[in-house]
Amino acid sequence: MTIDSSRLRIAIQKGGRLSDESKKLLKAIGIKFSTRDRKLIAHSTNEAVDLLLVRDDDIPGLVMDGVCDLGIIGQNVLEEESLEREAKGNAFDYKELKVLDFGGCRLSIAVAEEMDYNGPQDLQNARIATTYPRLTEKYMAEKGVNLSFCLLKGSVEVATRAGLADGICDLVSTGATLEANGLKEAEVIYRSKAVLIQTASELSAEKQALIDTFMTRIEGALQAKE
Ligand code: ATP
Ligand code: ZN
Repeated sequence: MTIDSSRLRIAIQKGGRLSDESKKLLKAIGIKFSTRDRKLIAHSTNEAVDLLLVRDDDIPGLVMDGVCDLGIIGQNVLEEESLEREAKGNAFDYKELKVLDFGGCRLSIAVAEEMDYNGPQDLQNARIATTYPRLTEKYMAEKGVNLSFCLLKGSVEVATRAGLADGICDLVSTGATLEANGLKEAEVIYRSKAVLIQTASELSAEKQALIDTFMTRIEGALQAKE
């Protein structure tokens, strides 16, 4: 399989909370495609565009490394990857084109319901289970709190009860999952939305012109919704 690099490559989440809205946005700006068969790549039938359908975690890297020209991703995942790359001394450049009107959530520290929580200092030297150690560490370091981490990509919400950690730091929208696991929200450390990003690498004039056209249409599509 070869990828035609003259076509604009857009990375979106394959299956998850950002998938439907990402596809809806691309369709709203006139890009026709079908993602019915479970392929990694969907070729647009009317524009010089290929969609890459991937895990959301892979999207920041694909755009930062210039493998994809555009990507739609949660700011939480994007910022975590940026901090991770920065810490390792790797390149983490990208251009933010537009904050979108979906994918809203918050990243919060939660502790056992019965804990007497009065502020960040109560977590001094605590162990926190999370998928977002860099974001968590950054926020708590600013509060003068040192943490250690238990890194989990899933089932974060059970880590406290399982005795793996003193608290968790995870995405919250309603708080129902926390409650169901005997946890309460202690600190909101990051508020996130989906964003459209572009690679920092120089693109051909044709590709850049296509992106400019799409941006004009996105402004129109977002205004029409208001
Ligand atoms: P993937 O299989 O692609 O790795 P995932 O399980 O990591 O998917 P999803 O649960 O689909 O990710 O969430 C993707 C993004 O949707 C989150 O990173 C976040 O930006 C956003 N989001 C919006 N609301 C929520 C929520 N209530 N819980 C989790 N994520 C949310
Ligand atoms: Zn993911």
